[in-house]
Amino acid sequence: MEFRDLRRQYEALKPEIDEALLGCASSGGFIQGRHVAELEAQLADYAGVEHCVTCANGTDALSLALRVWQVGEGDAVFVPDFTFFASAEVVAAQGATPVFVPVRPDTYNMDPEALEQRIERVKAEGRLRPRVVLAVDLFGLPADFNRIIPIAEANNLLLLEDAAQGFGGAIGGRKACSFGHIAATSFFPAKPLGCYGDGGAIFTNRADWAAAARSLAQHGRGASKYEHTAVGLNSRLDAIQAAVLKVKLKAFANYELEKVQHIAKQYTEALASAVVTPTVAEGFSSSWAQYTVRFANCSKRDKVKQYLAAKGIPSMIYYPSPMHLQPVFADLLRADKELESGWASVKACLSLPMHPYLTDQEVTLVANTVIEALNE
Ligand SMILES: *Cc1c(COP(=O)(O)O)cnc(C)c1O
Repeated sequence: MEFRDLRRQYEALKPEIDEALLGCASSGGFIQGRHVAELEAQLADYAGVEHCVTCANGTDALSLALRVWQVGEGDAVFVPDFTFFASAEVVAAQGATPVFVPVRPDTYNMDPEALEQRIERVKAEGRLRPRVVLAVDLFGLPADFNRIIPIAEANNLLLLEDAAQGFGGAIGGRKACSFGHIAATSFFPAKPLGCYGDGGAIFTNRADWAAAARSLAQHGRGASKYEHTAVGLNSRLDAIQAAVLKVKLKAFANYELEKVQHIAKQYTEALASAVVTPTVAEGFSSSWAQYTVRFANCSKRDKVKQYLAAKGIPSMIYYPSPMHLQPVFADLLRADKELESGWASVKACLSLPMHPYLTDQEVTLVANTVIEALNE
C-alpha cells in the first residue's frame, strides 16, 4: 500500500495525461502560454476569486504575497506554531519576524484566542509592527476564518491564507484560497491538487496585487520584457505542469474530492472509539490533504507506526517538530509556556494513508490494523 498512490491516479487519468504531456512536447512551448492562462482562469473560477497567478511552487507563492505587501524588517507576521516549515521560512526570508501562535488540539489550526493575545503582546512590547496574519489550512481543513477575519480587520492586519494543503476545503459555500486578502497554494505532487513536479499559485480579488505578483514572479518586469520595476524572482509554472493540472483539476472537482471525503468518513467511523479522530466543525469541509489521528502519547503513536510498517502500511508523522523548536528560530524565542503546552497537546499525531484511489477494503484494513496495534 502507498501513503499517497500517484501511480493509481495516473492509471485512472492516463489517456488525458498522456495527451497533455505529449501535446506540450510536440508544441515546443514550455514556458507560460495557453495552458498556464487557461489553468489560471479555471483555478480562479474554482476558488471563487477574481485573479489567480501561478508560480514555481507554494513557497514562492507565499513569498510573492509578502513581497507584494512589502513585508520586511520590523514587521511581525503571526504564524501557527504547527505547520510545514515554509510557512515561517518565507517570513524570516523577507527579514520580518514570525510570531508563533499555538494551534487548537481539535483542528490543528491557529487558535484565534491565542492570536488575539499575541497581537496584543506585540503591540504592548512595541518592538515590532503587527502586519500580517498568516493562517494555514492544515491537513486540508480551512483555518477558523469566521473568527480570524474579524480579528485581522479589527487590528488592521493583512490576511495571508496558506492553502498549500487547503485547496478544495470550504467553509459554508466559500472555498479555500478565497479567505485571505491573498491566498497561496502548492501543486507539489502530494498536495490535494498536485502536478508532476513543483508548482504553486496565488489567489486574490485585488487586480493591482495580482499584477504586482505577476511582475515579481518574472524578475519584476515592467511594461516590456527587459524593463524592470522591481527586484523579483524567476518563478514560473511550466506549460507541462499546467497541462497536467488542467486534467487533474477536472478529476479533483468531478470525483476525487468526494472520494477522499468518503474515505475520511469511513476512517472516522472505524477509529473514533480508539483514537482522537479529526474534528471538522459544523459548516467546515476538509480536502483531506492528510487524515491525522492522535494517540495518548508519543510512545503509543510510535508503537502503532511500527506495527503498521511491519504489516506493509505506511504512515507519516506530520510534523515531528513545531516551529518554536526549529534550531534556526532558537534565538528568536525565550521559553514560552503556551507554545510548549500547545505543542504537547498535538504532538502524538500520526497521518494515515489518504488519497482518492484507496479502496474501501484498504481503508478497513488500515483502521483494523491501528486498532490491532493498540490492543497488542
Ligand atoms: C507544502 C507546503 C508549503 C510549500 O509548498 P511547496 O510547493 O512545497 O513550496 C507551504 N505551506 C504548507 C502548509 C505546506 O504544506
